[in-house]
Amino acid sequence: MIWVSDVPLGRDAPLAVIAGPCSVESLEQYRETAVAVANAGASLLRGGAFKPRSSPYSFQGLGLSGLKIMRRVADELGLGVVTEAMGVEDVELVAEFTDMVQIGARNMENAPLLEAAARCDRPVLLKRGITATIEEVMVAVETVQALGDGRVVVCERGSRTFEPSLRNSVDISAVAELRLRCNLPVVLDPSHGTGRTDLVRAVALAGVAAGADGLMVEVHPNPPMALSDGFQSLAPADFRDLMTSVQGMAAAVDRPC
Ligand code: PEP
Ligand code: MN
Repeated sequence: MIWVSDVPLGRDAPLAVIAGPCSVESLEQYRETAVAVANAGASLLRGGAFKPRSSPYSFQGLGLSGLKIMRRVADELGLGVVTEAMGVEDVELVAEFTDMVQIGARNMENAPLLEAAARCDRPVLLKRGITATIEEVMVAVETVQALGDGRVVVCERGSRTFEPSLRNSVDISAVAELRLRCNLPVVLDPSHGTGRTDLVRAVALAGVAAGADGLMVEVHPNPPMALSDGFQSLAPADFRDLMTSVQGMAAAVDRPC
């Protein structure tokens, strides 16, 4: 079991839902989202301050001011928060403001970054690379574990496949397989996993049924206006519905929630 702030993650812990916007856009946007997901029962907050984007012309994140906003709102609500560090030079700063340091899919094989994250005094959320095999995920897990204190949470977030209608294809079997291979919490991200708001619920429930120890979901107060990933973000009302469905599925598979 791994503690993130005061939330336990793992197979002996209740299912954890990590939720928040793709990017922190402003104090108001972050607070509104965080209050909505907290009221709906999210266990931890997420948000991006340093954003890995497909285009150099897209919104790149607020950087340090985004980290400050997340910390401030997380403290207001008494919740832990997770965010990504994109470069070795960001790790210490990110660790100072967050409760778990995320390594994004594009960086899963960036050994210097994995090593820096391992050495910081925070658990690491390691996202599966977009073309990484399960064996490669395990190598990345071991890289972090070899240098750190062992606190790694693994995240299935979909792979790039031959299917063009989805941003990625979620590997539900990897959720079960990763849980067999390592005694670590395994989380599923149905937002990046599908790239489509209308598919998030179905895939999230499949992940819970497959034994995921947690979910990571993007939520925005007004998805069409989001500066990043609005097309895969849930509006607060949809997130509330998702939580109800997730609780039903968790009960069906005897998972406390
Ligand atoms: C994210 O979770 O903010 C993110 C960018 O995800 P990924 O690294 O899986 O694309
Ligand atoms: Mn995103």
